[in-house]
Amino acid sequence: MIPVTTFAGRKVAVLGLARSGLAAAQALIAGGAEVACWDDGESSRGRATAEGLPVVDLTTADWRAFAALVLAPGVPLTHPEPHWSVNAAHAAGIEVIGDTELFCRELARQSHRPKVVAITGTNGKSTTTALTTHLLRHAGFRTAMGGNIGEAVLGLAPFSETDIYVLELSSYQIDLMPTLAADAGVLLNLTPDHLDRHGTMAHYAEVKERLVARAGTAIIGIDDAYCRAIAERRMAAGGPAIAIHVTTDPTRSEDAVTAQDVRKFEASGKLVQTGDHGVAGLPVGSLSLAHAPTLRGPHNAQNAAAACCAALAVVADKTRVARDILQAGLNSYPGLAHRMELVGTLHKSPFVNDSKATNADSTAKALTSWGNGLHWIVGGLSKEGGIDSLAPFFQRVRRAYLIGAASHAFAATLARHGVDYVRCVTLERAVAEAAAYVRANPQEAGSVVFSPACASFDQFKDFEDRGNQFRTLVRALPAFVPHGQGGMA
Ligand code: ADP
Repeated sequence: MIPVTTFAGRKVAVLGLARSGLAAAQALIAGGAEVACWDDGESSRGRATAEGLPVVDLTTADWRAFAALVLAPGVPLTHPEPHWSVNAAHAAGIEVIGDTELFCRELARQSHRPKVVAITGTNGKSTTTALTTHLLRHAGFRTAMGGNIGEAVLGLAPFSETDIYVLELSSYQIDLMPTLAADAGVLLNLTPDHLDRHGTMAHYAEVKERLVARAGTAIIGIDDAYCRAIAERRMAAGGPAIAIHVTTDPTRSEDAVTAQDVRKFEASGKLVQTGDHGVAGLPVGSLSLAHAPTLRGPHNAQNAAAACCAALAVVADKTRVARDILQAGLNSYPGLAHRMELVGTLHKSPFVNDSKATNADSTAKALTSWGNGLHWIVGGLSKEGGIDSLAPFFQRVRRAYLIGAASHAFAATLARHGVDYVRCVTLERAVAEAAAYVRANPQEAGSVVFSPACASFDQFKDFEDRGNQFRTLVRALPAFVPHGQGGMA
């Protein structure tokens, strides 16, 4: 834990008592503050009480007694409308900050400051965070990973035990961090998301931009118009900046950057070009993803380039992150559970758990990363539009196995496009049917990819439960050869 001393002797309101709120309350108390904890949900208040934290009814409290409101990132700050506690804090004239801001202020007080890598973007945050952490650990650094992934930041190892913190930050967290200034800031990409909480795409992008605008070195993917504009502004402002461009992305050719755009970044000498199998142009020379089984697909080329640049940016002695060390780190990255996780093989056919793919956009990545002749297990609670947008990839599918509530509607879509399918309804039957095909056709069967393109709640507790059940089912198949024991988280 990282005790928070910046509020010692003062009173702080903590609202939202899930993972980060509980850690913040404990860290504040450990640093000498008095806290008043509250959550609109009774069960969360009960959990806090059970952990010995002081639960105080903030709906009737005198807010002028508090020095700050520490707000959980899941609680609305501005949209659709400020939470009642935010209004109360503003009326009393006190600041509203997050647990991640407490971390920044505490860090600023240290005489010997560990480095911080902060990572954001609409997609790929967790992968890039886990990969950066893996690369740095592989290079021998004491590295702590947390934020929007794994541990809450204040639950991480103390400053004295850590060389580098690698933090995944959501837009909600950035919005509550007025003094965020990472040594390396990564912004991967921006597509419309979370607009209910940010009002407009412009506001969402503006919040994300703060992370790179204030970073020592800014590392920015330039394959969408929002990030491209952000990278241009950063380069115009003159701070160290690295632009990352993926050269082959068949799934997003419509927003691939134009040659002219690329030249602009090339002219500044800070462009890293990446292809499906390589990351060229890093100071260490080109790196290959050909032997990195957990980093398939052009989207992972973006993640890998960003992670390598981040590692290089925060390590002063570059020989410690020399080409061979980074390459070995990329090759040995175990991947994250449920995100294109290679579970193992049956008669040489890979079985892939991509349960985290809860929408068609995510599934598009899986359908372009595992070759042709795919056996695709798909379905659950459909999102708007279903799998219609995946039609360009249907030619890669040998047979689809449909599960869950969407199986009727998806069967109609696939039939319209002439794709072979079996309505299995349950995951158990889908795995059995796909395995039977592989057994009957061991020479020609392709990969078996469980990428549902749907929410899980019709049949499972959540996407993790769904992925765990898939893993258990395939590992129980006779003659199945497991690949390691799951990923990093
Ligand atoms: P996040 O933490 O931002 O949700 P993850 O690393 O967990 O991202 O990846 C979630 C899904 O997003 C992956 O399964 C993949 O389909 C997709 N994805 C990962 N990286 C990228 C990227 N750089 N660009 C676009 N999509 C990506």
